Amino acid sequence: MTESSLSSLDPENWESERHQAHAMLDDLLDYLQNLPERPVWQPIPASVRHSFQEGSPGAGQPLKEIHQRFMRDILPYAVGNAHPGFMGWVHGGGTVAGLLAEMLAGGLNANLGGRDQIPVAVEQQILRWARTWFRFPETAQGIFTTGTSQGTLMALWVARVALWGEKVRQEGVGAHTLTVYAAPTVHGCLHKALDLSGLGKKSLHLVDLDESGRMDVSALQVQIGKDRQAGLTPFMVVGSAGTVDTGAIDDLAALAALCRTESLWFHVDGALGALGCWSAELAPLFQGIEQADSLAFDFHKWGQVPYDAGFLLIREGSLQRRTFSSPARYLAREERGAAAGEDWPCDLGPDLSRGFRALKTWMTVRRYGTERLGAMMAHTCALARFMADRVNRETSLELMAPVTLNIVCFRYRAEPARVDALNAQIAIALQESGIAVPSTTLVRGQRVLRVALVNHRTRARDLEALICAVLHLGQRFSTGRIQSS
Ligand SMILES: *Cc1c(COP(=O)(O)O)cnc(C)c1O
Repeated sequence: MTESSLSSLDPENWESERHQAHAMLDDLLDYLQNLPERPVWQPIPASVRHSFQEGSPGAGQPLKEIHQRFMRDILPYAVGNAHPGFMGWVHGGGTVAGLLAEMLAGGLNANLGGRDQIPVAVEQQILRWARTWFRFPETAQGIFTTGTSQGTLMALWVARVALWGEKVRQEGVGAHTLTVYAAPTVHGCLHKALDLSGLGKKSLHLVDLDESGRMDVSALQVQIGKDRQAGLTPFMVVGSAGTVDTGAIDDLAALAALCRTESLWFHVDGALGALGCWSAELAPLFQGIEQADSLAFDFHKWGQVPYDAGFLLIREGSLQRRTFSSPARYLAREERGAAAGEDWPCDLGPDLSRGFRALKTWMTVRRYGTERLGAMMAHTCALARFMADRVNRETSLELMAPVTLNIVCFRYRAEPARVDALNAQIAIALQESGIAVPSTTLVRGQRVLRVALVNHRTRARDLEALICAVLHLGQRFSTGRIQSS
């Protein structure tokens, strides 16, 4: 072997590798073009699952064979969120621009921890755009995250420094009396973030919902008063710009006003809905979001950017640096050369090595424009209203929550003792049928079928197919024994 064939991983034959690369790209474009012809999801054969138990290979293998294996054993058995019939949980569908951006980013292999490079400037451009989308001040800082779960945890760290100063970074949180407020419908990532931040899950005080399913702001005010009286230290309120169960939007303007009077940190969970601000029609729903102290949101859901791409915005930008910057001898900044540059992202978050999430976001926004993306989001909300209307017209179906955004919760009617199990069974059967993938959740303690219209590819006919299948399965399971499906 020559030296280069031993040490370098570059192809020996660039021509055949190039050919192989084009074949892979073609397969992915075929996949996206012909999605509707595929099942949304399909059960994974035991043999395929088993094949991933194999040990680590000592010797390499041609790319062509690995590609074939991907097409045979991986691609068909993903969860299906690119498919127009995918309506489960809250998943983005991805785009061709996103696919190609991932390829470009992969080829460049930039590390966005810092240093003097345009990839960092691309991330900073997204920050500037985000300031205008959400009407945050020029002084706001921000950074890409893996998602809103990470963004929420980071927001807690920043808010902690805002309250206690940098000494908390030396001394830790220790015993404390801090309390955080949110509605019972808040996403589980807040509980997890409280746990991981050291504040503890017990510091979360849940505030009841009002009639419209939003956090009851007067109940919140009463609770804060009581807690102060009891010697606790109210600290933060978390509002949802779209709850994960039903898409309800907290009264963000009222929460912001209360936080100002009470001197509390106002965090907004915008994972599901915040980017709805791209739509002139939807933006008014999120009024008050511009007053948040921190806003965590996701490009990978409604924004259709490939996973993963979350973002955290901090109103008082200097706090972000005070929370995360950790000088190190091997990270010295210079006036010139590759180690120049003021704003190193590693000073603004927990990570040092970071991928180029900004590129796929930048390319998605540039390729489609915020107007078209906003119109796509408004369309998913129109589909949700269409779906609610269809549900209301079927006597055997029941709408289970008001439709605010792009989520519809409904169920097949049955006697109380069976209705939860029946609907859970319908969800599984639908998923296994390959026709559609809804998920389920609990609304006021009751199991519902939940359709989250996040994917830009979903059309009314996909919802018709879903309704038709639910009616069919509901009838079959109601008359037969549930297990015998
Ligand atoms: C998805 C979601 C989260 C968590 O975001 P990740 O990006 O999955 O970490 C938080 N809140 C809401 C409302 C969500 O829909």
